[in-house]
Amino acid sequence: MIGMKKTDSHHDILGDHVETDKMVLDGKRSAPSFRGDVVFAPDSNAQPLDSELCRRVAAVCAPNAIASKEVDGRLQLALDKGRCIMCGLCQEAAPALFEVKSKFARPVKRRSDLVVAQLSEVAPNITEASHEELGRQLSEKIAKTLGRSLAIREVDAGSCNGCEVEVVALNNAVYDIERFGVHFVASPRHADVLLVTGVGSRNMESALRRTFEATPDPKVVVAVGACASTGGIFGDTYATSGGIGDIVPVDVYVPGCPPRPEALLYGLLLAVDRIR
Ligand code: SF4
Repeated sequence: MIGMKKTDSHHDILGDHVETDKMVLDGKRSAPSFRGDVVFAPDSNAQPLDSELCRRVAAVCAPNAIASKEVDGRLQLALDKGRCIMCGLCQEAAPALFEVKSKFARPVKRRSDLVVAQLSEVAPNITEASHEELGRQLSEKIAKTLGRSLAIREVDAGSCNGCEVEVVALNNAVYDIERFGVHFVASPRHADVLLVTGVGSRNMESALRRTFEATPDPKVVVAVGACASTGGIFGDTYATSGGIGDIVPVDVYVPGCPPRPEALLYGLLLAVDRIR
């Protein structure tokens, strides 16, 4: 570079204060405008619900994540976090009922755990851990369960590539997942985990099934994002299968549209639990 001396550090070259928000890089908090987990507002149970209000909030939700039913003579809402694309329209339509958090929605091991009823929702067990802490936990768990490292084969089963952007971010300089002993591999024959994105399109059905069969046991399948978990905004159509669960058995669901890298790390922590 013209004018660059051998002793110049990158700070001398680029100048100070070139980092993005340090708190965000440290994983201490999300970017201020990040739309993460959608929950029932703290006082939502005190709100009088009528069928018109239920119809209105269900109508703004494109992936049909909001449903209502009568329980003990009282209308009750249910929220399917597996379908939610974090658009925030329910909060706009009924701020007394819904709240969009800036923390990621928690990955789970069972599909049914993604559906929460209005009256029964417990405080979200969202980890406040940064990606550094999650990575360290993951690395310890991998050492205990597998000995050295965890190998992942990523499969795009018909995604918009939004989830891929987050998966790729795991390998960037901020997350640098390789230092925790996690490697992406080219062949399913070398993989412990299949990280699957996308709706499970009809065109990818047989490829996904064959990839699953080619992966040696014990193997774990992680459904990444709303599409892989439930079909998301696309649902079940002539071209899609309403989530990859109709094609291969799913062990971990990572909600989000797309899920942020911290959520993927959390999902991998659950995935290692499933390896026996
Ligand atoms: S934020 Fe989720 S639940 Fe709310 S309207 Fe959007 S998709 Fe539906």
